[in-house]
Amino acid sequence: MKLNVAIMGGGMVGLAFAIALRKFAPDVAFTIYDGATELSEVGAGITVQRRAWQILCAIGLEEELLKLIGSREQKSVAYIYRKSDQPEGVHLKTIQTSEPGYTFHRGELQKVMIQYLTSSHAVHTRKRLISYTTLKGSVELHFQDGSTAQCDILVGADGVRSAVRGAMYTKLANAAVAAGDEEGAKALKEHISPVFSGTVIYRTLIRKDTLPEEAAQNPAFNKTEAMIYAGKNRHLVVYPISQGRVLNLAMVFTAQGKEGSVYDGAWTSSVSKEELIGRFSGWEPEVVEIMKHVSDNLLKWVINVATKLPTYADGLVVLMGDAAHAMSPHQGAGAGEGFEDAYVLAHFLAHPSVTKDTAAIALQAYDAVRRPASQKVAALSHMSGRNLHLNLSAECADVTEQESASGEGLSSDQLKEVGDAIQQLTKWMFATTVAEDRQVAMRKLEAALANVAQ
Ligand SMILES: Cc1cc2nc3c(=O)[nH]c(=O)nc-3n(C[C@H](O)[C@H](O)[C@H](O)COP(=O)(O)OP(=O)(O)OC[C@H]3O[C@@H](n4cnc5c(N)ncnc54)[C@H](O)[C@@H]3O)c2cc1C
Repeated sequence: MKLNVAIMGGGMVGLAFAIALRKFAPDVAFTIYDGATELSEVGAGITVQRRAWQILCAIGLEEELLKLIGSREQKSVAYIYRKSDQPEGVHLKTIQTSEPGYTFHRGELQKVMIQYLTSSHAVHTRKRLISYTTLKGSVELHFQDGSTAQCDILVGADGVRSAVRGAMYTKLANAAVAAGDEEGAKALKEHISPVFSGTVIYRTLIRKDTLPEEAAQNPAFNKTEAMIYAGKNRHLVVYPISQGRVLNLAMVFTAQGKEGSVYDGAWTSSVSKEELIGRFSGWEPEVVEIMKHVSDNLLKWVINVATKLPTYADGLVVLMGDAAHAMSPHQGAGAGEGFEDAYVLAHFLAHPSVTKDTAAIALQAYDAVRRPASQKVAALSHMSGRNLHLNLSAECADVTEQESASGEGLSSDQLKEVGDAIQQLTKWMFATTVAEDRQVAMRKLEAALANVAQ
């Protein structure tokens, strides 16, 4: 084996990277470590959009995932956006392509991924990384249980609270102090902790077989599309998963004034429906009907995001997925961007000229390719949230909740502006294919390797 990689974190992105290495880089050995007692996913849905789907197919999961969807012929999911915080809703935009993109239950998707790892690639659970030390040509991992391990490359796929990112930015800050750059060190330390995104989400699932007969027949519960019901300072996302047997719901709120600060409270908590009472009253009938049937068991999620990192790579250590770019979920693209990291890095490590001696160059090239792309998506996702909460332009932001609820607050031109922005902000999803982008990325890797060889 030419390289020995430690993948820290067996979330969806770490698993996708492991599967991609198996497929594209059979001469790269890897070990997955995870701090949890077992791998699990939150009981909620996930959208796998066009580009993310292309990657899941490329790494070999298509057949198994299509079984979850139930029909190979099923069309790509359409996204229908409405302004719904008024008694009669208004259509804003429909986004649909002829190319596939689907919605899944997270647990079902994760199960398929785990099946793709053979027993020799088992995930080492209860292995929580505390820190690492860089040695000459290798990395030593330090775990909470006192054990250590060595690898040629450490990949931090350990989520938004990433210990790998924490250790990397502590090391970079210490180096800045040693070089007499106190200001630089202070700036680097600000990337260790995630910050509050300004968004709070309530998530739940509705099983259709638990609905009263009349409600189960209601069109609100029988859509094949992903519905995004937008309104002032809040929106509701509803889409079917598990072959339409279950509806995934996310109620998304702007929390004014705290964005960008470190959030001290609990990030997730179980709450009752009480917290939401009245917050969608007066909305269009479809929404009111759905809210009537929300169970009393909701997961409240304070969304924290990664800061805009100045690098994803340092020496033989690299970040991917939420560890690198945890973003607000308004484009349903966070995991997809992590899959893109996994796909690119697996191809880079597979390159015949990437060896122990050139690994650090490959990681720098990965940073040069993936950091701008994923940070752009994070910024667009943030803007999408503001747009869906009718706060993107200064004129829209001036409209109050009461004015918006009256149906008179936004002019038809402003509504068109919101609809056009939905399309504009998601244009990147359809511009190129991941295969085309991989070719460009490979050329960048080769140029970086050639530069060093000279
Ligand atoms: C409400 C919401 C809706 C979303 N919807 C979508 C969507 O529709 N589509 C989409 O593409 N994305 C979506 N996302 C984003 C997506 O969920 C994340 O981007 C994705 O799950 C990140 O995966 P990950 O593997 O990078 O991190 P994680 O899933 O957080 O996995 C990290 C893993 O690392 C382990 N770990 C943590 N610390 C350590 C340590 N110190 N040592 C060892 N192991 C450790 C953890 O146990 C965990 O298993 C959404 C996010 C939210 C919050």
